[in-house]
This record gives sequence, C-alpha cells and structure tokens, in this order.
Amino acid sequence: MQKTLYSLLELQEIDNRLDELREERGDLPLIVKELQEKLDSKIQEMEKNQETLKNARLRHRELELIIEDSREKLSKFEEQLYQVKTNKEYDAITAETDSAKDQLNKSETELLEIDEDMEALEESIHSIEAEIGKLEQELSENKEELEQTLNATAEEENLLRQEREIIINKADPQLIKTYELVREARGGQGVAIVTNGVCGGCYSYIPPQKIVEVKKMEKIYTCEICGRILVWDEIHSK
Ligand SMILES: [Zn+2]
Repeated sequence: MQKTLYSLLELQEIDNRLDELREERGDLPLIVKELQEKLDSKIQEMEKNQETLKNARLRHRELELIIEDSREKLSKFEEQLYQVKTNKEYDAITAETDSAKDQLNKSETELLEIDEDMEALEESIHSIEAEIGKLEQELSENKEELEQTLNATAEEENLLRQEREIIINKADPQLIKTYELVREARGGQGVAIVTNGVCGGCYSYIPPQKIVEVKKMEKIYTCEICGRILVWDEIHSK
C-alpha cells in the first residue's frame, strides 16, 4: 500500500506538469477549434448560395425561352387575327392571345425577381468569400502557433504520458478512479500530503489518531473535508 500511495504522489506530480503544459498552450486549441467550425459553416453557407444561384440561372434561362415563345405566339396570333372569317374563330384567337399575354406578363415579372435574387446572391457569395479568406488566414496563423507550442513540448508530454500509463496500469483501478474524481473536483489535486497536522490540500485539521493511521500507509484515507487522498511523506510531513 505504501508503494501505491507513493506512486499516487508521483502520478500527481506528472499530472501537475501535464496541466502546466496544457496551460502554456492556453486558449489556442479552443481558438483553432472555433475558427475551424466558423470556417466550415461559412463554406457550407457559400455552397448553399452557389447551389441556389445555379438553380436561379437555370430558371432564368427557362424564363427567357418561355418569354421568347410567348412573343412568337403573340405575333402569330396577330397575323391570324387578320385572316379570321367567323366570330367563333375570332373569339378563339382572342382567348389564346389573352392567355399568351398573361403568360408573358407572369414570366417577365418572375424574370425581374430572379434578376434581383441573382444579384443579391452574387453579392452575398462575394462577401462570404472575403470572410472565408480572412478566416483561413486567421486559422492558419493560430494553427501554426499551436503546432509550434505542441512541438516544443511534445517530447516531454509523451514521456509524461508513458510514465502515467505505467503507474496507472500497476495501480488499483478503484484508487485511480477516486484520485481522478477528486482531482477533477479539487482543481487538479487528488492527493494531499499531511503537513503539521492538517490536510495539505484544504488545510483542515486531521485528528491525531487518523494521522497515526495515515502514517502507517496501510490503508487509503481521505480528507473528510475535501476528499483528497491523504499521504504521509517523510520529507514533507511532520
Ligand atoms: Zn482536505
């Protein structure tokens, strides 16, 4: 058990250093992640706009054909109107003329609307493109900075992680779980050294009888106030 508790102290030191390294990186990983997400969503937005623009262009072409066709029909009806011989024929051509005019009006209105839409879409695509350019620049700068920080500490971090792995593999999983839980809840410190009769984590008083027990290091004792695993260390404990 003594060995286990000492390895727990070692684990705590490793974790402290890993936390330090993480702190050195600061907000960079988060900034990179957020920039990447922003960029992805802008690219998506642009692709959506490009798709809408493509469909608008197709409809535009379609309407141009419809308008051309309606105009041809109208001039054909106009000629036919000179050659009618009966009222019935006249009525029929007038009806067709009205319908073609109607079609022409509708198509021309829609064409104007689509022209406006296309213009707005093109503008929007331009401005999104500019935003994407800026984001890409910002992202690549931050990524580079992050990579430099990571490279500078990669070797040490790998070593620490390996040591961590070795300790964890040898230790009781339940103890490690307790350590991790307390560590998370207590600002990174899962182990506390007993010093001058108090818990080294929260400085609360520990009854002398308990200190005697902790000193033996035969069992796991935790601080009743903060829950940290109590360890007796010949160098630091008194
Ligand atoms: Zn405590």
